Amino acid sequence: MPAHLAAAARAYLREKFMTTKVAVSGANFAVAETGTLSVVESEGNGRMCLTLPETLITVMGIEKVLPRFGDLEVFLQLLPRSSTGERMNPYTSMWTGVTPGDGPQDFHLVLLDNGRTAALADRIGREALNCIRCSACLNVCPVYERTGGHAYGSTYPGPIGAVLTPQLAGMHAADDDPNSSLPYASTLCGACFDACPVKIDIPSLLVELRHQNTEESGTTAEKLAMKAAAAVMKRPKLYTAAQRASGLGRAVAGRGGTISRLPAPFRGWSASRDTPAPPRQTFRAWLASDEGAATMRAAADEYTGPVPEDEK
Ligand code: SF4
Repeated sequence: MPAHLAAAARAYLREKFMTTKVAVSGANFAVAETGTLSVVESEGNGRMCLTLPETLITVMGIEKVLPRFGDLEVFLQLLPRSSTGERMNPYTSMWTGVTPGDGPQDFHLVLLDNGRTAALADRIGREALNCIRCSACLNVCPVYERTGGHAYGSTYPGPIGAVLTPQLAGMHAADDDPNSSLPYASTLCGACFDACPVKIDIPSLLVELRHQNTEESGTTAEKLAMKAAAAVMKRPKLYTAAQRASGLGRAVAGRGGTISRLPAPFRGWSASRDTPAPPRQTFRAWLASDEGAATMRAAADEYTGPVPEDEK
């Protein structure tokens, strides 16, 4: 940020901090052993909010409570290193109640449940409550990178948001609730799991939420289509016949080789995307052709790896 913009923001905000009577903050951690709260931040505005007004109200999710003061040692290292790549973050504020003559003289702590107890009762989903909000999973997510945070429509975006939001705010598949689409906002590539400092298996949680969503949504056109596809795929002859029949789709494809409008019940699928026209020759037909057989023979001749026991 240019220095003159930073100076303007500083002048404006400092005036606010100096004159505001009541401040509302969040908290990164709380310690059950001592009643201490902690805010970890980079700019110092948080510390002004915590120290200058007469009254401080802190709103904090109940999952942020650590058992012992010594536990902070671990988390104060994990958070900045995973979040901004710093060994230590610039401003770590800690306070325990009020100190006469120093800082806010009136302090209120609001411990927020808001769906967290229900998430804790979920044997699989409770893992998401380990999140320390470092954003490492957001920074590596290919979906978040392209959609940005607002697309998630909730306080928590990115991979962990796609898990936490349905858990905390509910997911009502039957009512077409946007939250029920969040678990599908992932390629399940696993980059988030690799990056997470507290080892939350986000891809598995997303799959579990998809399962819950499917169970809850009752009979849908998609479910019926999947059942029909499963029945066809179990029968090779039927599958071959279906593949041949799908070739008719080429008749309705446009010049670009895509179908932009599918008939009901598949209309929803083509409402926001084009569908590639079926190829002239399926892979199985190619494999059974002279060209396919010759290609497979050539590949077998080139293969130099281990040979399975039953082919020796
Ligand atoms: S899920 Fe893991 S990586 Fe993502 S914000 Fe939470 S702690 Fe960080």
